[in-house]
Amino acid sequence: MSLDVSSSGMLIVLFLLVAAYLILIKLHAIQTEKPLRLGLKRNDSVLVVVSHPDDECLFFSPTILYLTQRGFKVHVLSLTSGNFYGDGKRRVRELLNSCDNLGVPHDRVFCTNKFEDNPNLDWECDIVAKHIEEHLAKSEANTIITFDDYGVSGHINHKSAYKSVRHLVRSKICSRDLQAFSLESVFLPRKYIQVLDIFISLFYEWLDSDTTLIVASPADYYTAYNSMLKHQSQLVWFRKLFVIFSRLVTACLSNFQVNKPLL
Ligand SMILES: [Zn+2]
Repeated sequence: MSLDVSSSGMLIVLFLLVAAYLILIKLHAIQTEKPLRLGLKRNDSVLVVVSHPDDECLFFSPTILYLTQRGFKVHVLSLTSGNFYGDGKRRVRELLNSCDNLGVPHDRVFCTNKFEDNPNLDWECDIVAKHIEEHLAKSEANTIITFDDYGVSGHINHKSAYKSVRHLVRSKICSRDLQAFSLESVFLPRKYIQVLDIFISLFYEWLDSDTTLIVASPADYYTAYNSMLKHQSQLVWFRKLFVIFSRLVTACLSNFQVNKPLL
């Protein structure tokens, strides 16, 4: 009897996995034919602001791949060199290689050591915002993509990146028209159900018209996986598991809600 129950459970999971992959492939094909409404024009530049080398891969790879494959000029700014354990130089090289694999050439990758990689340190957002503005001008980008207020993993440096971009959007630091998107954090179980998250992501996109769902193909997932392999210094067992089971195939971008109070 228990064997029957477990067999039925496995069949259901198998069915859901096949259905999820079929939906994923179909949605990716639709996105290829009909671009998403992100307010971008042909050849526009986009600045992706992350806090550490490997964030671009672990969290933003579906977004970066979507943009680079459609000819947008993606620039990546890492606000730290990831020097918490003293291996910042190595991690910058890994960032360059990872970005190259995602379609972002070396001359569009910026990394600063002005801000400290420290999970206990909240950066001053006006200083960080000015730094981001300098890179916006350099990259001629009018679109920023970064973390949301939880920062996917709750890391305080990720939250600081969000707060700094919010400050930039709300303040008069930047004179050009600017649009910003945040990568939506999800509750814990959703992080590790891989492609099955497509059902929940679709539901949330349907509920919230400000959310844009980006879907990566299985080939994109493989590219993202290879990018993570470039971060050899970070390949501890739990990150390997994260890459295997994480929802690296989907990303939900949300328009910054400018009137939302700063956290
Ligand atoms: Zn990070």
